[in-house]
Amino acid sequence: MNISTLLTAGSRTAPAAGRVYLPGDPGYDTARQGFNVSVDQRPAAVGYPETATEVADAVRVAVEHGLRVAVWTTGHNPGPLGDLRDTLLLRTDRMRTVQVDPTARRVRAAAGARWDDVVAAVAPHGLSVLHGSSPTVGVTGYSLGGGIGWYARALGLAAHRITAAQLVLADGTLVRTSDSEHPALIWALRGGGASVGIVTELEFEAFGFDTAYAGRLAWDLSQARKVLPVWAGWAAHAPREVTTSFRLLALPPLPTIPAELRGRRLVMIDGAVLGGDPDAERILAPLRALHPEVDTFTRTPTPALTRLHLDPEEAVPVVTDSLMLHGLPTDAVEAFLAAAGPESASSLLLAEIRQLGGALADPHPERAALSRLSGRFLLFAAGLAVDDAAAAAVERDVARVVAAVQPWGTGRTYLNFVERPSDTATAFTAQAWARLQRLRATYDPRGVLHTPHTAWPR
Ligand SMILES: Cc1cc2nc3c(=O)[nH]c(=O)nc-3n(C[C@H](O)[C@H](O)[C@H](O)COP(=O)(O)OP(=O)(O)OC[C@H]3O[C@@H](n4cnc5c(N)ncnc54)[C@H](O)[C@@H]3O)c2cc1C
Repeated sequence: MNISTLLTAGSRTAPAAGRVYLPGDPGYDTARQGFNVSVDQRPAAVGYPETATEVADAVRVAVEHGLRVAVWTTGHNPGPLGDLRDTLLLRTDRMRTVQVDPTARRVRAAAGARWDDVVAAVAPHGLSVLHGSSPTVGVTGYSLGGGIGWYARALGLAAHRITAAQLVLADGTLVRTSDSEHPALIWALRGGGASVGIVTELEFEAFGFDTAYAGRLAWDLSQARKVLPVWAGWAAHAPREVTTSFRLLALPPLPTIPAELRGRRLVMIDGAVLGGDPDAERILAPLRALHPEVDTFTRTPTPALTRLHLDPEEAVPVVTDSLMLHGLPTDAVEAFLAAAGPESASSLLLAEIRQLGGALADPHPERAALSRLSGRFLLFAAGLAVDDAAAAAVERDVARVVAAVQPWGTGRTYLNFVERPSDTATAFTAQAWARLQRLRATYDPRGVLHTPHTAWPR
């Protein structure tokens, strides 16, 4: 295998018209860097295709030279791919066109579009989409992994709202899939990740609302023991119109963070209610009765919701872990607070519990590889790994929080929140996993597609 011949010396003659960076090229180190800068991967080459045809050409050339092919939209979740030394990494950064059909309420987004690209495109039509908490996360990676955002308990997983896709298969063929064209492929894309091909264009539903009753409630961290038990009980029975997240936060003193929150250790509940103001106020009343120091819940234009969660938009070194929970009874609340609460001396930036249930729990086994999220809550813990000592402390504290609530774990993973190699099978039912493996064997028998996580047959 001679990559230099294959991709002809860095960036001048690429397998596609877009640039290619080889180890040693100026720009290679930037090209191989994802959003999580604590992940250090050295692909055989990094390419920036600009069209679906270039993606297909790149796959064919990689196969001829014995390379595998991985794809990033933004590099928000590089860890699960593991070692990339035998892999051509395709970055879709230059494929960001978004088209909207307001009458049909359909969006067609090129593979590299971020959620803020799509939100900006649909907003003038009075429409909203099922984005997540970060404006800079990629639409394709997020949707193929499931996708839980502020409307999730009302409208379900983003993956279930994919209506069609154009993708390049492992043999370089470009195909379109929908419920009537290669339906097995769209089934796999709905939550099955990059298992059957490289998406070059995704089509999905938009929704006819442009405001939500949304915002944040915040208390000093010392109030965690007062707030969490109430939220846990409320969240378990709240109507599906509302989706919230509970977080213990140590916010950095950054100018991008609102002044009243900047640099503080806080309890925060944020989220959105789809419905009228009186209903929303009634739903949120038990939380407001806890007298938050900050309460920004109000009627809000939906584009503002991409930044409600204050997610970082610049690359950061993070260590994370997650766990799906079947419930959050009093013992689980106590265990979580002991591991991450005010007296825990936690080094974490955040210990978050997202509210699941509602439409997320409705099963769609014929529609999607990821039929449903069976858990009621999703734990996510993260810290900044700015140096080796910080990384070790964060690893320890993340593991402590996950271990504390492990007795309430469902045994299922949500792969979008798993940022290290894991057993892919744990995300799916046994039937869905068997079907995904059969599709892999049919569409990628040689294991050309370098997919995240470890359990795919090679
Ligand atoms: C700050 C932050 C906030 C987040 N918020 C949420 C949230 O609110 N809800 C939620 O559900 N998740 C959330 N996530 C998780 C996020 O959905 C996953 O990290 C997702 O994988 C990111 O997709 P990406 O394309 O941006 O990342 P990438 O690292 O570029 O891609 C991740 C994986 O997606 C697949 N993929 C990407 N592009 C393609 C393609 N063109 N064809 C086929 N497969 C492809 C590949 O397997 C790739 O390895 C968040 C992550 C971060 C870092």
